[in-house]
Amino acid sequence: MSVKLNKIIQTIEALAPENLAEAWDNVGLQVGSRQQSIKRILLTLDITADVVDEAVKKKVDLIIAHHPFIFKGLKTLSSDCEKGQIISQLIKNEVAVYVAHTNLDKAPKGLNHYLAEIMGLENIKTLEPSNPVVYYKLVVFTPVDASHKIIEVFGKNGAGAIGDYDYCTYRSSGTGTFRPLVGATPFIGEVNKLTCVSEDRIEAIVAAPDLKNLIAVLKRNHPYEEMAYDVIALENGGLINENGLGKIGVLSQPMEAADFIASTKDRLGLVALRGAGKVPDIVRRVAICSGAGADMIGLAKAKRADVLITGDLKHHDGQRALENNFWVLDAGHYGTEKWVTDCFKQILESGLEDACPEMIVAESARDFIVNY
Ligand SMILES: [Zn+2]
Repeated sequence: MSVKLNKIIQTIEALAPENLAEAWDNVGLQVGSRQQSIKRILLTLDITADVVDEAVKKKVDLIIAHHPFIFKGLKTLSSDCEKGQIISQLIKNEVAVYVAHTNLDKAPKGLNHYLAEIMGLENIKTLEPSNPVVYYKLVVFTPVDASHKIIEVFGKNGAGAIGDYDYCTYRSSGTGTFRPLVGATPFIGEVNKLTCVSEDRIEAIVAAPDLKNLIAVLKRNHPYEEMAYDVIALENGGLINENGLGKIGVLSQPMEAADFIASTKDRLGLVALRGAGKVPDIVRRVAICSGAGADMIGLAKAKRADVLITGDLKHHDGQRALENNFWVLDAGHYGTEKWVTDCFKQILESGLEDACPEMIVAESARDFIVNY
């Protein structure tokens, strides 16, 4: 089965849009063209010379990686340096490279969500939500027989999207009055006569960036010459944005710390697990952040987690955990992020269904840090 690379990118970015990535990051298509046809994909955490050799040997058309291969400005593409060699090998063999990094980390159902599910967490929420989106309540008054069309316009333009639901609107019925003045061409009623009409009041929340466009589309679709509507600022500040780093959730069965260590090693397939700080008696609430997330120690504690699982723990992170009376576990950068290949697989299989190309997990990708 072959599919255009553009379709693959759209499938990933429907879940992890590029604009979620951190400003310092470099994500997206790094080698190749969106117009390429893709039959076989290699999935990997990192792109190394070995991974590219494997890609060529296995005749893949695309490598999808988590860590950017081209990160900081390249000064040369000379094949006298390893990066130049790798890039020329990719181009010669027509192997494209696509990267989803911090955008996938921060996507509501991205890598951290996948990791939280592997850890058996329930009621999973974002640990550090990105800037919350401001929401408004938009109210539109419409004749009853146009209500369905107006609700369609709301839903199609992003209004009423709450969590895993869309088209969330509320409709109430009443009587509207108006008097067309000289010069008006009313849909209903006559000039200078007070008219009473059965109307519906339709309301839904709408994110600030979508508001202007939604009002314009509603006006084009509304039967009245002058659409009556209210934009109401929400005192509750809108909805929590589920984009952001890390996740927090609860174990279905609380467990003692020793059992939790054994369970973490087992679930994440680890031979070693380091930790620091104050070990709790019972673990119930678990925070998790793939890669290097020791900065989340304070936040995880503030959100009443019993432990934070992350990677790349440094000496002073351990000290901070101790000072905070909090427990942090280091499952390794690789240990928490090797799951990205399964995560990509799941996204593409569910997004492309029967059109999904063959996917191979890179056998040559490995942890750079070795336990002796
Ligand atoms: Zn990483």
